[in-house]
Amino acid sequence: MRWLRGSSSDADGIPAGQPPRAGEDLDAAARDVLRRAVQFYPALPEAQRDRLHRLIAQFLVEKDFWGSQNLTVTFEMKVYIAAHACLMLLGLPRLGLYPTAREVIVFPSHFGESIECIAPDGRRIVIHDHFIGQTWRRGPVLLSWDHIDPASRGMMAGHNTIYHEFAHVLDLLDGEADGVPPLESADQLPGWQRVMRAEFESLVAADRAGRRSFLDPYGAQDPAEFFAVATEQFFEQPRRFQRLHRALYGQLRQFYKQDPAAWMVS
Ligand SMILES: [Zn+2]
Repeated sequence: MRWLRGSSSDADGIPAGQPPRAGEDLDAAARDVLRRAVQFYPALPEAQRDRLHRLIAQFLVEKDFWGSQNLTVTFEMKVYIAAHACLMLLGLPRLGLYPTAREVIVFPSHFGESIECIAPDGRRIVIHDHFIGQTWRRGPVLLSWDHIDPASRGMMAGHNTIYHEFAHVLDLLDGEADGVPPLESADQLPGWQRVMRAEFESLVAADRAGRRSFLDPYGAQDPAEFFAVATEQFFEQPRRFQRLHRALYGQLRQFYKQDPAAWMVS
């Protein structure tokens, strides 16, 4: 499934984010994609649309999209990915436009590798290591189109690999995949750690007991995955999130500086 890997040779530290440039706007074809394909877009308050448009326009200029395995990444696919990645940044001009992630590589479906070995008794064993998304430290974001395509059944309620992987990019901006993205001030850290730790431990306990949880049990692996799955639900089902996990929702609202439960239909 979603996975996180980092190369170890990169220097740490928050890169200087380029503030989004003023004046760039989105052309009519891209706005048409937003209206037709992006579920959250019709409900987005008018006051936030201009900023989203500018961010998407800049994203499309700055980021290189690559299709792997002969996949052609269409204009519509680029706008769709950019729209979700940029929604997350509406309240975060201080962090730039994902300055460490310059490339988005799109696979037709899940990707990864298979390892084959022969057991002593002659049995052939194949181990599959597959992903639907991956984020590299200061490297590309990898996505499986099959799992984000709005026209396919790959994307289930509460799951969105675009939010998930770009949450990892934000988490990694300070050099550590620790589930703590660059907070606005050090004063916020104790509250963040207290709420995140309690919610993470609660998800781990639910996962071990086999109990159903609103948050994806994939987040029980470690705090970095927990932040990524919480971000998915923050933007996918914010109203349920706020009702079920009020304190956690409050921390994410404070970090992202936006309140999707106030306008998003979920
Ligand atoms: Zn992940």
